[in-house]
Amino acid sequence: MPLERAGIARTGIGYDSHRFAPGGPLVLGGVRIPSEQRLEGHSDADAVAHAVTDAVLGAASEGDIGSMFPDSDPANRNRDSMEMLSLAIRRIEAKGFAVMHADITVIVERPSIAPHRVAMCDALARVLHVATDAISVKGKTNEGMGWIGRGEGLACIAIATLVEVPR
Ligand SMILES: [Zn+2]
Repeated sequence: MPLERAGIARTGIGYDSHRFAPGGPLVLGGVRIPSEQRLEGHSDADAVAHAVTDAVLGAASEGDIGSMFPDSDPANRNRDSMEMLSLAIRRIEAKGFAVMHADITVIVERPSIAPHRVAMCDALARVLHVATDAISVKGKTNEGMGWIGRGEGLACIAIATLVEVPR
């Protein structure tokens, strides 16, 4: 496509972290990962879904997950974070954007993310309305350093690229 006919691309970044608590499963990117630990939070604490939601909302200058789904609203308690991500996608699509691509890094010592990457990409692609190969999920350890290294919790960084859809 000639560049002048291509929609304007915008990029957003998202970050999230949650503390571990006893009792699995661990839910990341909508995938239930067998684990003796889960993530603690107001919703289901899916840090991947939360970071991607912030990246997508940020790219569209639509605020953040906290402004769209306040902790103070009881409706958001134990809420399915992939459903929240889906509502964020509805918002940016209504504003004339479509997701092109998202790249996600999960920083955690254990469990290993690699065996669950494809399932996470599939689940995220369905919600973001893109092909599976437009989503990338990577796992990194923190080399044993700091709170992540001690296994107190995990962090996630996401970047999302949106394109303006011609109307
Ligand atoms: Zn979160």
